[in-house]
Amino acid sequence: MKNVRYIAVNDCVDTANKNNDIAALKNVMNEFYSRDNSRKIRSSIRARAKAGLYRCSYAPFGYRKSSDNHNKLIVDEETAWIVKRIFELANAGMGAHKIASVFREEKVSCPSWWQHTRGEKNYPERFKNPQNQYEWSHTIIRNMIGNPVYLGHSVMCKTEAIFKVGKYKKLPEEEWIRTDNTHEPLVTQEVFDGANAKILSRKRDTTNNFVSVFSGLVKCGTCGKALALRYWGRDRHRIYVCTAYAHNTKSCTDHRIYYDDLYEAVLADIQYHARLAFENKEKAVALAVKMNARMDGNRGKSNETKLKQARKRYDEVTRLFDRLYEDSLSGRISNENFTRLIDKYQTEQEKLLEQIATLEDVLQEVKDSQSNAVQWAELMVGYVGIMELTAENLNLLVERIEVSDRAETEDGMQQTVKICYRFGGYIGEQTVKTKMIRKPRKKRDCPRKTAMAK
Ligand SMILES: [Zn+2]
Repeated sequence: MKNVRYIAVNDCVDTANKNNDIAALKNVMNEFYSRDNSRKIRSSIRARAKAGLYRCSYAPFGYRKSSDNHNKLIVDEETAWIVKRIFELANAGMGAHKIASVFREEKVSCPSWWQHTRGEKNYPERFKNPQNQYEWSHTIIRNMIGNPVYLGHSVMCKTEAIFKVGKYKKLPEEEWIRTDNTHEPLVTQEVFDGANAKILSRKRDTTNNFVSVFSGLVKCGTCGKALALRYWGRDRHRIYVCTAYAHNTKSCTDHRIYYDDLYEAVLADIQYHARLAFENKEKAVALAVKMNARMDGNRGKSNETKLKQARKRYDEVTRLFDRLYEDSLSGRISNENFTRLIDKYQTEQEKLLEQIATLEDVLQEVKDSQSNAVQWAELMVGYVGIMELTAENLNLLVERIEVSDRAETEDGMQQTVKICYRFGGYIGEQTVKTKMIRKPRKKRDCPRKTAMAK
């Protein structure tokens, strides 16, 4: 037992004295008491909620607490119009992100700024930057659109304090207490339903229904990071954007490409190569070998020549060695020169052996690439006449897809899509004509590429 002295003044307990049996019992009683208290408070809270009495510390944005009755919500004339506007915009099909950016542009003050100015909550750091007054979060907007408080109903007891922990837990929806028509509504049921239906349909499209066939395969041709699927513009076009750029616009350029354009380009490339492999396998194999050799900086051919030269020189040096010994024995060479030349030839011989080993390795790789090319062509033959891309067939055929940024050419804006095939390597290359999505930005060097070039 640790040497701790426990004193409870109210209960006359001091562990320094003997006779403390009662302390343990009192502790249990206290626990019962506070548990009971907590239960009573909770049931009183629920009873008040059922009576439609507003009990939170702050009124929801757009409302104020009535000055003569703190449990009643009244319309806040200063902010109610903002709530109404959010619902109107959402009902017109605008998403929460877009509404937030509209408010930022129009310099509409955000809820926390109102709380801060009214002394309800204190944000000493946030509003040192005056720009933050208009910094709306899309989460707040989305939560507001789903909140039935704006229909004049009260939904309370969504959370509950956990006994003695001082934290709140979320309650399941069936335990929430909803009381209708407790205060003046800010929106009609029709507008509320419309706004919610549109926000929900938008969410479902991005998260549940649509699965990109390119998942995990598309990379940025500049920085190598993944491209991520985004939804763009009024028509919610699917586009891919460099994630490095999305995270920080200075770290790369956007590399944006329409999902549909990417799909067409990749499908066309597979169709072309599958047909080639089907009609002329040797040609397809030769193409794969050629493309890989190009990637290797044409190492294959020159290396064979280099290996021949190195072997020839090695034989020469070996012969020179033998002659040197003969010369030394017959006294045709001085001891001094003999040592010097022996050293020289030995060093050269070692270097040549090393060079020969490296070249043999490289040539073996080329041979492997030949057999890989055959394997690739055989795989492609099976996909002749392919009509659609699926995650399955793509992952069987393709290792990686690289999208370059748009570039101005005589034919207008273009970007290339490079396809690295399984076994085959970088064989496919398609040029995509870029539809104008947005004015192209000034090209910036990708930091990774700049680092690599050094
Ligand atoms: Zn990038």
